[in-house]
Amino acid sequence: MWEQLRGYCRLVSATRFVVQLHDATTLHFDLRIQAGEVLRSWAVPKGPSLDPTVRRLAVPVEDHELSAGEFEGVHEGQLRGSGAVIIWDQGSAEVTRNDPGHLVVTLHGSKLTGGFALTRTGERRWILVKTRDAAARPGSDIVAERPASMRTGRTWEEVAAGHAGRGSSGHSDHDWNRT
Ligand code: MN
Repeated sequence: MWEQLRGYCRLVSATRFVVQLHDATTLHFDLRIQAGEVLRSWAVPKGPSLDPTVRRLAVPVEDHELSAGEFEGVHEGQLRGSGAVIIWDQGSAEVTRNDPGHLVVTLHGSKLTGGFALTRTGERRWILVKTRDAAARPGSDIVAERPASMRTGRTWEEVAAGHAGRGSSGHSDHDWNRT
């Protein structure tokens, strides 16, 4: 893939991303982008969109360990919500712009592809929006179209109910750093 990208993508930093769907106090998505040995993280209540006219609130949260990005299962003891987490999407990413309060990434996931901009608009308030590029899909709703885990095909409800899902027995030991 890096061979294909050479020449038309200003590759500043090659890294990884993951989007998890998490049933906590409220059902929300967690967007995590690897920055060295941590995952920079934002909670995105409505999830990402491939429609470049859709602006999604992204609330910055604390950095997470890389291993957190590999978790699919149920967080035991969560006070509200089932604690279920699925790996909704993940893949490689290039950070093409990294200014204070403004981040532009190109994602290569199974659901999310192309450019996305994260822009700080206030105290603990950022906006996530799809870049207008070939991967943009105006009018689409990727969250509704493809709700299940890209890793196991399970929905968060199935994980919460303890279903085994297809092709997996649950928590994966997939190595975040290797692929
Ligand atoms: Mn969360």
